[in-house]
Amino acid sequence: MIPVKGYAAPEAKIPLAPFKFERREVGPHDVQIEIAYCGVCHSDIHQVRDEWGGSIFPMVPGHEIVGKITKVGDQVTKFKVGETAGVGCFVDSCRHCPSCLAGLEQYCDVGMIATYNGRDKEGNPTYGGYSNQVVVDENYILHVSDKLPLAGVAPLLCAGITTYSPLMEWKVGKGHKLGVVGLGGLGHMAVKLGASLGAEVTVLSTSASKKADAEKLGAHHFVVTSDPEQVKAVQGTLDFIINTISAQHEYDFFMQLLKLDGTMILVGVPPEAPKVTAFNLIMKRRRLAGSLIGGIKETQEMLDYCAEHGITSDVEVINIDYINEAYERMIKGDVRYRFVIDMASL
Ligand code: NAP
Ligand code: ZN
Ligand code: ZN
Repeated sequence: MIPVKGYAAPEAKIPLAPFKFERREVGPHDVQIEIAYCGVCHSDIHQVRDEWGGSIFPMVPGHEIVGKITKVGDQVTKFKVGETAGVGCFVDSCRHCPSCLAGLEQYCDVGMIATYNGRDKEGNPTYGGYSNQVVVDENYILHVSDKLPLAGVAPLLCAGITTYSPLMEWKVGKGHKLGVVGLGGLGHMAVKLGASLGAEVTVLSTSASKKADAEKLGAHHFVVTSDPEQVKAVQGTLDFIINTISAQHEYDFFMQLLKLDGTMILVGVPPEAPKVTAFNLIMKRRRLAGSLIGGIKETQEMLDYCAEHGITSDVEVINIDYINEAYERMIKGDVRYRFVIDMASL
């Protein structure tokens, strides 16, 4: 077994603290990565606090992982020692169901094996990227270009792909008005990617202080959701909304901003289920949809697209002992725009 250092939440809502554990030896198809950086996703907070139910403790969160390959199994063909690689939100899946065969492992009929807070095929808990080493099957690892600053690449493994995938699925681009609700980790990637694909981007935010940043990120318009005049001005105008809000809110408030046949895509996962009024959907044939991260093939495409277009996440690099404060700041919407842990601080 491989000894690993990490940070774990011992129980729900208890602060994270240093934690030692072991990972499996590198098998014939496995790759071992020495983790350089791991992004901090709001899903880490939901799960550490058991807000979705069923959390497994102790929990080592983290699914925005980048680092250097230090060892490969003797059957590995796609990766070499010394290369830079990434791991996202899942580390395995059934590999046989229609979703897996279509490269949509995140929708695996049997259930993808989550990078942390999941169980591997032997039933053991999985531990994530707030740690110095990870061992993953080569089919669930991504190639990472050395062209881009690595700390800014880490969040692409979740925030990047989670916003890229619906933009691709709904073919968002030139001629579309795209609303991005919530300017956090996912939101700021939705702005960068949406703008780079040619959409006219409007950020809808509770934080007036983020207006200048939104424009720097590529947004064309900014709406403070507490100002009824600003909200009224965009009513019935948007083709798509990507909704990244992590907390309880009214979907109806945003649905009425869509034009005829407009679609709001939920990527944020508030713990409580809000109600949706039928009238808000039927009056303009609007659609409410959802999207979960992205498959391995699409994640690789997204990483290659970002390398080609010079797109990374705007990050605040932190030491791992700052993680509990980082969580508190994220809950207040105070992150510009992704915390990334420098694993050298472990
Ligand atoms: P984040 O960085 O904390 O950003 C969330 C943003 O939502 C905040 O910056 C804030 O933006 C807004 N917000 C927060 N509380 C709010 C409230 N009470 N009312 C209105 N707006 C509020 O979080 P994230 O990492 O981007 O994750 C966002 C959500 O997506 C989480 O629920 C996460 O679990 C989920 N997620 C889903 C997937 C998927 O596959 N679908 C993948 C990753 C994450 P403003 O300050 O601009 O208002
Ligand atoms: Zn995530
Ligand atoms: Zn499957």
